[in-house]
Formats: sequence, structure tokens, C-alpha cells
Amino acid sequence: MTFSIKEHPEKGRIVQAERMFLPGELVYSSRIEAQVACRDMYSLQVAEDKHILLDEPANLFCHSCEPNLYIVDNAVGAFDFYARSIIQIGDELCWHYATTETEVVEDFLCKCGSTWCMGKMQGYLQLPAAYRIWLQQTIGVSKYLQSLEIAL
Ligand SMILES: [Zn+2]
Repeated sequence: MTFSIKEHPEKGRIVQAERMFLPGELVYSSRIEAQVACRDMYSLQVAEDKHILLDEPANLFCHSCEPNLYIVDNAVGAFDFYARSIIQIGDELCWHYATTETEVVEDFLCKCGSTWCMGKMQGYLQLPAAYRIWLQQTIGVSKYLQSLEIAL
């Protein structure tokens, strides 16, 4: 077993690693479960008007402003999740939602505790330019967001 799904008192269901991953290692290659017309709490953005739902456990990875995963667009139109840092058994798997979303469907306060915490959750285009550059350089953003940056 590579992952386990746990119930967290505040976050709902979370995903924990059941084995160790090294930085740069592929943690999970997701697939598209469905395409939805509008952004929702669970969708990921792949184009201006294209939002997808991922298969489990990728659909349960939570947000962190200093995540242990980063995303890369994959061959099936979804995302591969790679380890940014050493992931130990029992670590919660999380990625940075603003690395795919131009905006957020619902405001929520992030409590990740990172130095780089956005506080109020925001989408990529709502963030200051300096934070966007930090995201690109230290975490990496989706192909769609990279294409927007060229146009900005
Ligand atoms: Zn945060």
C-alpha cells in the first residue's frame, strides 16, 4: 500500500504516504475522472474553461503553501504529482492549489503554518507578481498558468 486515507478533524479526508519518497520521485500519476463545466471545490484547471476531476487519491490531496508535492501536466491531460522534499511514512501529501487555479471558487483561510502562507487562499492571477515568481521558481506551475505568464 502506497497511500492511506485518514479522517482529519478540520480538513476532512487527507492522504498520508505509506512509504518513503525521495525529492523528484513520482508519487502519483493521476487520471481524469470527469470534466466539469465550472470550477468547483475539487476541480483542477487545465485551460481557461476546462476543469477536471482527478481520480483517488489525487482528488484528496490537500493544499499547503509549502507543499511536499508539485504538479506536472501529464500525457493523459491530468497531472503527475512529484515529491518536492523527502516524504516520510505518515506524512500528509499536499500540493499548492494556486499552481493550477487562476482563481478560487470559495475563500478559505489557510492554516498550513508556512513562512510563505498566503493566509487567505487565492488563485494564481489574484496573487502579487512576486509571489507568482516564487511559485514558478520554487514549486512550478501548470502549463496553462505558464502560458498565461507569457501573455501577461
Ligand atoms: Zn498556507
